[in-house]
Amino acid sequence: MALPVAEWQGRAARLWAALEPALRERLEAASLQDAVRLGCDVLRSKEEEEAALEQLCHRAPTDKKPEAASWYREQGNWEFKQGRYQAALRLYSKAASHELPGSPEVSVCFANRSAALLHLGHFEVCLEDIARAESHGYPDRLLPKVLLRKAECLLCLGRLQDAQDVLRVLESKIALDGAMTTHLTRLQKLSQLKVKLGEKEKCPEPARGEHGGTQGEPEIWEENSRISGASSSLSLSFDADRGRHLVASQDMVAGQSLVKEEAFVSVLCPGDSLALQGGDTAWDTRATNADLYCHRCLRQLLASVPCQGCSYAKYCSQDCADRAWQQYHRTECPLGALLLTLGVFCHVALRTVLLAGFAEVSRLVEMSHHGDRNLQNPEGSCKPLSEAADAGGGSRGVPGCDSRGRYQSSYQALFHLLPHTEQHSPEHKFLCTLSVVALCKQLQAAGLEAAVLSQESPQQCSKPKTCEKTSEELSPELKTVAEAMLRHVLQLQCNAQAITVMQEMGPGDGAVVDKKPVRLATAFFPVLSLLNHSCCPNTSVSFSGTSATVRAAQPISSGQEVLHCYGPHWCRLRVAERQQLLKQYFFECRCPACLQELESGAKSVVSIRNSFCCPKCQAQMQGKEDTLCCSNEACATSASRDQLSGRLQDLQQQIKKALELLRVGKADQAIKMLLKCQMDAGTFLSPEHLLMGEMEDHLAQVYATLGKWQEAARHLRKSIEIVEMHHGPSSVETGHELFKLAQILFNGFAVSEALSTIQRAEGILSVHFGPQSAQMQELQEMKACLSELPRNILQRT
Ligand SMILES: [Zn+2]
Ligand SMILES: [Zn+2]
Ligand SMILES: [Zn+2]
Ligand SMILES: [Zn+2]
Repeated sequence: MALPVAEWQGRAARLWAALEPALRERLEAASLQDAVRLGCDVLRSKEEEEAALEQLCHRAPTDKKPEAASWYREQGNWEFKQGRYQAALRLYSKAASHELPGSPEVSVCFANRSAALLHLGHFEVCLEDIARAESHGYPDRLLPKVLLRKAECLLCLGRLQDAQDVLRVLESKIALDGAMTTHLTRLQKLSQLKVKLGEKEKCPEPARGEHGGTQGEPEIWEENSRISGASSSLSLSFDADRGRHLVASQDMVAGQSLVKEEAFVSVLCPGDSLALQGGDTAWDTRATNADLYCHRCLRQLLASVPCQGCSYAKYCSQDCADRAWQQYHRTECPLGALLLTLGVFCHVALRTVLLAGFAEVSRLVEMSHHGDRNLQNPEGSCKPLSEAADAGGGSRGVPGCDSRGRYQSSYQALFHLLPHTEQHSPEHKFLCTLSVVALCKQLQAAGLEAAVLSQESPQQCSKPKTCEKTSEELSPELKTVAEAMLRHVLQLQCNAQAITVMQEMGPGDGAVVDKKPVRLATAFFPVLSLLNHSCCPNTSVSFSGTSATVRAAQPISSGQEVLHCYGPHWCRLRVAERQQLLKQYFFECRCPACLQELESGAKSVVSIRNSFCCPKCQAQMQGKEDTLCCSNEACATSASRDQLSGRLQDLQQQIKKALELLRVGKADQAIKMLLKCQMDAGTFLSPEHLLMGEMEDHLAQVYATLGKWQEAARHLRKSIEIVEMHHGPSSVETGHELFKLAQILFNGFAVSEALSTIQRAEGILSVHFGPQSAQMQELQEMKACLSELPRNILQRT
């Protein structure tokens, strides 16, 4: 997903292997500038490669297809009739993204979607969609239906006067049309609404205000004067081993914010699709990240605003759509399929140069050519910050700092992140070069060069003039752009920051929401990139939209380095697996966890916990080879590793099936199946195996959907035990499990345990997400609710 599709990777690899050895050598040693030049030469003589790339793009079409739109709309109507409004909503959004802007068809999509929104109780958004339908030329003869819906919505929102006005318009419209019979049912509904309206006027409900006052304590935050977005309790340091890094200059408490940074650039990952209800059909009815999150700000979408040009980009609002168009999407829109084919890294690289602007890009590229040794090898040749400060804070101090010695979340800082040009494999560099050059050639061929190089008005750019020949030489300006993009693609391997969110899984209508972390976008955060890695970090990163917050996960004392985990955490993987994963960052981790595991040669806790156990005596099975032996010498049972792995896979399949049963509402069967899985697992998995915990968690979920709160809580407590063992008692994972337990206990009126669980969950989640996060708010509300419960309910528990 980050890299180009497999077929294009394969082509690049074959092309590389077939190159003249002399050319290969030159490419291997080439600077970024020379790599682009040589890449252009290679592609010029290989027209079949470009044709093949074009062919691959057909698999990821992003253009609007009106025939797909009508199909999605019908699917939406079908779901709507079944009462599955959430699914209908998503399908109407897909339909709208394929209709031509301003067409009567798109207005019908919005109107249909407004009906689903009304059923789901999203009244404000429903009104927005009705307004959208009206502005896109909704057919006059269908208007009464929509006006009626509008009145109902306004009524639900308590806007009585507005509702009355709409009803008046509707009445006169129906009277004018005269065709009474077709409006008969509508008239009935109208009179019903009028009765409701009368009742509401008699006893106006109190305004449903926030019963606020539950905000947590204000956070300690003072911004650093030298590093934008960083806390004043941090300082930027440099040494040969660690490069640039951040150090605590004061003692810090757990939960304290250390960095608050807005991404310089972020690109939504197309991501895995989530199954929507519906069979196998010509078009995909599943919802992907692109259907669920705003293309620009990553906010969760309810009623998306489609891009005017493509079916891929969808936005949370017209404002986001307009801004994205202005900043980058007018250039990206015609290249949608190519960007999906070349992968997210290429896309991030393109958007980075578009956001930076050509003037800044060419200034920094130019500087990198003229003997600025810092750029070639910034970490190796620069001076410590203190010296730089003594020298008046020149730009030759810490790389990426501006002329006043400030490090900002800017393009300049981003440009100075390490590309590790010499450390990438030559094949990988070649693949990146070819991809970037192909992208720039396409920019030129599609007449988008002017849009990239200057700040032309969008009107001028919306009608790109296509070039006659695609095999034309890249202009010098586009070669500069390609060079910058190549640098960014290579930087991304070490500096890409995944923006993750907790996504709701499954039907989402249960009282207990199951959430899983998913990768939403890939981004550059120049300040966050200053943090070095540790497999046992002292910070925790969370995201809201496109901004990241780093918090101290434990008390950090003055002088300690602030570290975060790039991915492989010591609780989740063994040291060998971690070191393998960390290879992409071109360093060997020497964090305390790695050193301890490597030096003592001790078996990692991960491998003991996630081991197989003896079918006869339940002791741990051991052995590095294909045959595993029972660790209990008296038992001496042996088994083949393959066979046990096979059983594990079968088990995972069975669990999937059980969850599928739950999804289609067959909870009783799901329980039976999960209990059987548990029995089976007990005969060959260690009791502490993560999968054992997952099964408990699933069982809790099924019982919760049945309203059997005590059963649910019992299973969840067991799941929490195992999660705690694997991830630690103050980990995010444990926090999420406690949050679920709090919900279950709350629903089951187990007041005192609910309160103590809420307190524990708060303690953990506030450290990771801060006191203002959505989950913290929800916990506060539960607590408030429990304290207001009448006595007779309290006594029942
Ligand atoms: Zn948005
Ligand atoms: Zn578009
Ligand atoms: Zn480590
Ligand atoms: Zn045994």
